[in-house]
Amino acid sequence: MAAVPEYFGSMVFDDRVMRANLSAEVYQSLRRTIDQGERLNIGVANAVAAAMKDWAVAHGATHFTHWFQPLTGVTAEKHDSFISPSPDGGVIMEFSGKELIQGEPDASSFPSGGLRATFEARGYTAWDPTSYAFLKDKTLCIPTAFCGYNGEALDKKTPLLRSMEALNKQALRVLRLFGNTQVRRVTPCVGPEQEYFLVDADMWAKRRDLRFTGRTLFGARPPKGQEMDDHYFGTIKPRVAAYMADLNDELWKLGILAKTQHNEVAPAQHELAPIYTTVNIATDHNQLTMERMQKVAARHNLVCLLHEKPFARVNGSGKHNNWSLSTDTGVNLLSPGDTPYENAQFLLFLCAVLKAVDDYQDLLRISVATAGNDHRLGANEAPPAVVSIFLGDELAAILGCIEHDAPYTSIDTGKVRLGVDVLPKFRRDTTDRNRTSPFAFTGNKFEFRMVGSADSIACANIMLNTAVAESLRVYADRLEGAEDFQVALQAVIRKTIQDHKRIIFNGNGYDDAWIREATEKRGLLNYPAAPDCVPHLLDEKNIALLTSHGVLTRAELESRYEVTLENYCKTILIEANTMVDMARTEIIPAVQAFVLDTAKTAAAKRELVPGCLCGWETELIKKLSTLTDQIYREVGALEEAVSALDNADDIGSQAAAIRDTVLPQMGRLRLPCDQAETLTPKKYWPFPAYGDLLFGVR
Ligand code: ADP
Ligand code: MG
Repeated sequence: MAAVPEYFGSMVFDDRVMRANLSAEVYQSLRRTIDQGERLNIGVANAVAAAMKDWAVAHGATHFTHWFQPLTGVTAEKHDSFISPSPDGGVIMEFSGKELIQGEPDASSFPSGGLRATFEARGYTAWDPTSYAFLKDKTLCIPTAFCGYNGEALDKKTPLLRSMEALNKQALRVLRLFGNTQVRRVTPCVGPEQEYFLVDADMWAKRRDLRFTGRTLFGARPPKGQEMDDHYFGTIKPRVAAYMADLNDELWKLGILAKTQHNEVAPAQHELAPIYTTVNIATDHNQLTMERMQKVAARHNLVCLLHEKPFARVNGSGKHNNWSLSTDTGVNLLSPGDTPYENAQFLLFLCAVLKAVDDYQDLLRISVATAGNDHRLGANEAPPAVVSIFLGDELAAILGCIEHDAPYTSIDTGKVRLGVDVLPKFRRDTTDRNRTSPFAFTGNKFEFRMVGSADSIACANIMLNTAVAESLRVYADRLEGAEDFQVALQAVIRKTIQDHKRIIFNGNGYDDAWIREATEKRGLLNYPAAPDCVPHLLDEKNIALLTSHGVLTRAELESRYEVTLENYCKTILIEANTMVDMARTEIIPAVQAFVLDTAKTAAAKRELVPGCLCGWETELIKKLSTLTDQIYREVGALEEAVSALDNADDIGSQAAAIRDTVLPQMGRLRLPCDQAETLTPKKYWPFPAYGDLLFGVR
């Protein structure tokens, strides 16, 4: 087996390959496009395409595809082979600059939320040279943005790239105010920690809920769950270890910096974290990682569950989005510095995030709103649906002193008077890792923990980038015209702390008392479910933010509103239909079979032992009959709740009706089914139980 450095990135058309396979002139020109967004001319594109094709063919590729991220949440690809007929009846392998730069997949079956009704059915994919092309399953994959006929975004990459641009522009304005003329680019960097479950593929295949919806819709509490906390960071089981090794190999070949892996809190739950990189690449890599996780699992007769809540009463899965801002000169703008200049700059960027998160709590909540994630946010394990920021006690105290112009007492230096440029050295808060905070400052980055495990990280970062760009715009507008920069800076920082300190919360985010305080005293938003928050995407203040920074147009926002709620409705309707089906065709017949056998046993016993009362059999049959009656009724009620949705006029009211009627009815159906499971012997029960699924992989 070769050493990792030898094969790392071997499937990627990366800088090393470009340098080796392109002429110096073409390479320089492409680099300028990648680093500075310079326009690419067709001559360069042709040369790059030819080199890409030769490299891909040498690695066994026969096809190429524009790889993109439509609003379905997964990636899409349409493969074309490189072959082109030659006059002698044979073929040659061809790939032109035009094919590299632009593709024209038929867009009509991708969700567009009505955008296409007004435009044309055709869609365009456009090469994103900032994310390297790679080889996957003998296909050259070219990361692309996906747009409609008039350039309207139909994907997640387009607005993400726009938001990076907006943030870069405003951050540079602010840096210039600090006298920094060197930095040419500011880029958000992200390291997404990916949680997932692994279950045995044979057991998975027996559960239609897992197959159709990615989560269990039934399941009684197993004798053992996660109460012992013995899984977290526990020894990795051999089968799982083999899977992880195989997965790492695949990811490393794809140039993905898979770094840490460990068992998570719930049984069968694990985590994989890569080393952080530019948010655009991190997003592509995370999509690829999720895809490979599932592919590799199949080779180990496992199934990787990415759903946010595969099992009730067991911790769900999220994706911690570690976010920071880097300059092309290698400085992390969220890292507290050693000099007064660095301190003041750090404080201003920190304030920009406080203001952004407070002003746009709703957009952050919306950016993670899916049917799956609703089970997690606000449940007793994940961050709550209320957005707040954890800073740690020390940093919060420092901000408090700056706000009140009060002296700060530090262990190292004693009493000091703080100014924006005089900060005491403070330690990264390690005492309280505060896992309950949805948005935590962890030393030199912010960790947004509300993202769902199955979701793309694009949306969260689009909103975060744009909201922070807006804070920086406001600051730059104020400071550029200031007579005395230092005085104005001090005032801007103090005002931000005063106006936005309500968003800072260092306590336990799971506490009910906090939710009350947050909503009643602090006026923070609490949107427990997707249909509660998604309509606010179209609030004027949010439209103003996203349009003014050129990230999404009003029409694009309207389309995203539609698509998000459509996805929500479809997801839950599939779940409801699956429940009806399983209850009626699997659960009721299974219980009936057991009841019948029990009744037969009782009859036989009575025959053998005259006068035998068959007490427990009678009792059991009574209980199970009551439960099956109940199941039957609840199935009917669920079907009615689903049909009643036909009366909803629009997607907003349909989603609300699903939240208010269908989801609660699904809960009412589940209850008697789970009770019946506890009374029915395993051999009658039609699918594997929670205990088997959660502890079935060794
Ligand atoms: P933990 O949160 O478990 O302590 P780390 O903080 O080391 O682990 O890293 C978690 C994730 O955060 C990793 O993906 C890591 O690459 C990423 N990360 C670390 N530093 C930064 C940074 N400056 N910006 C963005 N992500 C970062
Ligand atoms: Mg972390």
